[in-house]
Amino acid sequence: MIPILMYHQIGQPAPKGAPYRGLTVHPRDFRRQMTWLRRLGYTGLSMRDLLPYVRGERQGKVVGITFDDGYRNVHDNALPVLAGLGFTATNYFVAHQLDGTNIWDREKGIASSDLMSLEEMREWAAAGMEVGSHTLDHPFLPKLSPDIAAFQIKQSRLELEELAQVEVTAFCYPYGGESPQIRDMVRAAGYTNATTTERGLARIDDDLFGLPRATVARSTNILRFLQKCMTRLEDRRRKA
Ligand SMILES: [Zn+2]
Repeated sequence: MIPILMYHQIGQPAPKGAPYRGLTVHPRDFRRQMTWLRRLGYTGLSMRDLLPYVRGERQGKVVGITFDDGYRNVHDNALPVLAGLGFTATNYFVAHQLDGTNIWDREKGIASSDLMSLEEMREWAAAGMEVGSHTLDHPFLPKLSPDIAAFQIKQSRLELEELAQVEVTAFCYPYGGESPQIRDMVRAAGYTNATTTERGLARIDDDLFGLPRATVARSTNILRFLQKCMTRLEDRRRKA
């Protein structure tokens, strides 16, 4: 079983009481989390680098690291930490919101936050990090007609590949919205894996187009964080 961590923003949190404030992890906490992983012998990997472990082809102390939405504060605060430790990570970009904001969150009263520009996304990729797709516009896919949903899935891959000049094989369902039909669309669009917002650890027999993740929130303290990452060892011990 392999943990795939799910982060959103790495920065100073919005004022107290702001909705979803908890999804912003403080840069100091992020650095501490990554440093502890390294100290304990773990390597943080992008989905591209993690896939052989998820498929059971390779074994090792690895943890998947993913970021949703492509926030600028991840470029500014997380990228130097990851690069410094030799870790890789995947960020799922919203193709039509480069240099934009999380406008899809506005009606829920969630604070506006800047997203990476094209240049910043290219820097992310040039540092060895992975560019994944989070569709064109961040819609709830099950609500769309099949044609439009398939377009959001496939066209975002083509546009991100063209913009970043890299292969895009990782997908993430906005709001975790998916179905067997939508998973098929992602597969048909040429991706090799997709993550959900379902909580849990990735298992070898999991559908690669429905991989669960472990949320890291502002309130996740270092002990709880390490517990999430080391469940694999705990699990082995339980069986022994
Ligand atoms: Zn998202």
